[in-house]
Order: sequence, then structure tokens, then C-alpha cells
Amino acid sequence: MATRNLLEFDLDALSAYCEERGEKRFRAVQLFRWIHQRGAAEFAQMSDLARGLRDKLALEAHVAAPPVQGEQVSDDGTTKWLFDVGGGNAIEAVYIPEADRGTLCVSSQAGCAVGCRFCSTGHQGFSRNLTTAEIVGQLWFAEHELRRRLAPPASERAGARAVAARVIDNVVMMGMGEPLQNYAALLPALRTMLDDHGYGLSRRRVTVSTSGVVPMIDRLRDDCPVALAVSLHAPDDALRDQLVPLNRKYPLAELLDACVRYLDAAPRDFITFEYCMLDRVNDSPDHARALVRLVRDRVACKFNLIPFNPFPQSGLKRSPRERITAFADVLQGAGLVTTIRRTRGDDIAAACGQLAGEVRDRTRVGQRLRRGTIALVPAAPTPR
Ligand code: SAH
Ligand code: SF4
Repeated sequence: MATRNLLEFDLDALSAYCEERGEKRFRAVQLFRWIHQRGAAEFAQMSDLARGLRDKLALEAHVAAPPVQGEQVSDDGTTKWLFDVGGGNAIEAVYIPEADRGTLCVSSQAGCAVGCRFCSTGHQGFSRNLTTAEIVGQLWFAEHELRRRLAPPASERAGARAVAARVIDNVVMMGMGEPLQNYAALLPALRTMLDDHGYGLSRRRVTVSTSGVVPMIDRLRDDCPVALAVSLHAPDDALRDQLVPLNRKYPLAELLDACVRYLDAAPRDFITFEYCMLDRVNDSPDHARALVRLVRDRVACKFNLIPFNPFPQSGLKRSPRERITAFADVLQGAGLVTTIRRTRGDDIAAACGQLAGEVRDRTRVGQRLRRGTIALVPAAPTPR
């Protein structure tokens, strides 16, 4: 008989699961803390749970992340794990250590159906949504694996029961997949990340990044407002239609209105707009000026310019440094806070948009992109 993976449950769902077995909510809290705060996978080690409950759980349930199929560590310490999610599919998560924080970039789908022209995941096509257990499992595994590696030797610890310090305090849903096209599994995962009995992450330090699934931006605002990043990549519908095909369904005007509505509940008072810098496609000063006209006085925002990370078959190039800086200058000159993202882990293909994993494409998106039938017409070069 298949047993339940308890990583599937947020605290409310785990409480319901325990209640069905005649256990009070505080038992679920204890169990949840063992799993997420201490990284326990064996019910036998959960010493403050009654033996009867432990025995029952051992028969009916388990706690497991997807099996790790590979690990790569970059020169800068960035670590990428490949998780086997069955059926020939593998997904990736990336840990990015920084001086003041530890970030985990988490995947939400095996592949992605949006099919953005400049994204390696998009080129893979789409296989399936990840389950909540597979989403949370990436954090559960990475957090406790890193704690074990970084923990001081037992002799220096306060006691055998001491809980090691948290390693990951920032989660970005920027791995493989479009999180808002897997909303049902995403929501309990976010709740577990935020729960004080779980990972206790601040809402400001959990970021959902979306290519612009308008109705789900509204749902997220109502259900679980966390920091929101929107992948813009173009200042007008004609170009965005080509770069982010979802724009044909939810054009810029609707997307920006959804961003304004989101700000009513957002934990930050701005939306982060991501903009992938593609050489001679979307990176001219004219594009920057059009972007200023699009967003200024309309939505409180910051810009994050991502130098395009190339991958085989993309046929696109990264904008040269001086063109990125000139672009940033136009935005900044207009009063829009703009940062240029530092590329991390590109030596192990762990940088933004390079995550490919292994995906059994069930759609034609990847195929069409590979054949080049989803064409990208580069914008006419503008004078510099
Ligand atoms: N599907 C979501 C989240 C995953 S992608 C989204 O699109 O927002 C995370 C970010 O990486 C997005 O802003 C995406 O546009 C960007 N990205 C994708 N491919 C890239 C590439 N090759 N180089 C740089 N950034 C890329
Ligand atoms: Fe999907 Fe995001 Fe990649 Fe677009 S950029 S294909 S939405 S993962």
C-alpha cells in the first residue's frame, strides 16, 4: 500500500490528517516541527510523540524529498541539485550563498508550458506539475543537508538536541516552471515555508516569480501574499507576444492592472519587474524609454535586469555590458530603482534560465521552439 508523504501537507492539512486518526492539533504541530524544523524523516526518532502514534505513522506515512540524482558545486559556492521526480523527469533546485543571506531557487514544474523564447526550461517543453511534496521537498532537503554540512562538530554543540541555525532564509520560485500554473500545489508549499512551526520565512523573503498569469496573481493576493516578481522582458505587446507567448492571453495592460491590485496586499510596497537583456532584441535606449512610459505613475516597481544566460539552441546573445548599463541609466534617470543581477553559478548551468533538468515533453511547445516555428523577429537595431 502506498503511504502518504507528509511533506504534502501544510499545517492545517496535517492537523486534519492527525484528527482523522484521533489526534489533537498540538500533535500535528509537534510532528510538523520534527519534519520541517529538525529535518526528521524517521518517526522512531520523534521522541515526544506517543509510541502508538509513531508506530501508526510508520505504517501509513513517510517523509521524503525526491531522490537526488546529481549535485554540482560552482566555483562561487552555488550548489545545484538534480532531483529525480519519476517517469524520466528530473528537476533542479539551486542554493546561492551570499554574505547576508542564503537563497534557494525552487522549481514548480517539470518543464514549462509557457515556452519563452529565451528560457532553457521553456525549450524543454512541459511534462507535469510538481506535487506540494516535491516543491517543499527541495527546501526540506537543501536546508537540512546544508545544516548537516555546515554544522559544528558535535563536541562544540550545546547538546545533542540543539537545533542547528537556519541556512536558507530566502526562497525564490524562479527554478523550472511557471508557479502560477501550478497554483493548487504551490499554495500549501508557500504556507509551509511561512509557517512559524515550519521554516518561519518572512513573506518578504519568499518570492513568486511569474510570466504573468493574471487571474492567479489575484488569487495569490487573496490567499497568501508574498513578494511578487513579474517577468516583463518587453515594453510593448508586439515584442512581449514573441518573447513570452502568455502575453497573447494576458496582455500588458491587464498584467499591470493585476500588479496594482496585488500591491493592496503585498508584503512589499513594490513589484519587482524582471527584464532579461537580449542583445538587439529588447535592450535599446528606446526600449528603456518605452518601459518608463509604460510603468511610471502606474505601478510602484523596481527593475531587475538579468543579463541573458545563453544555452545551446537559443540562438540569442547576451547584451554587452555597456548596453545593459546604458539601459539601466535610462530607467534610473527616470527615478526607477534598477539593479543588474549578478550571474551566479553559470559555470554549472545554474544561472537564471539555464535550468533544464530532464523533461519528457508532453506538449509541442518544446518541439516547436526547437524547430524554430515559434519565431522571434529581432527588433530593428536602433541607433545607440
Ligand atoms: N516561470 C517564472 C519563474 C521561472 S524563470 C517566470 O518566468 O517568471 C525565473 C526568471 O529567469 C524569469 O524572470 C525568467 O524570465 C528568467 N530567465 C529565463 N530564462 C533566462 C535566461 N536564459 N537568461 C536569463 N534569465 C532568464
Ligand atoms: Fe516558463 Fe518562466 Fe521559462 Fe517562461 S521564463 S518558459 S514562464 S520558466
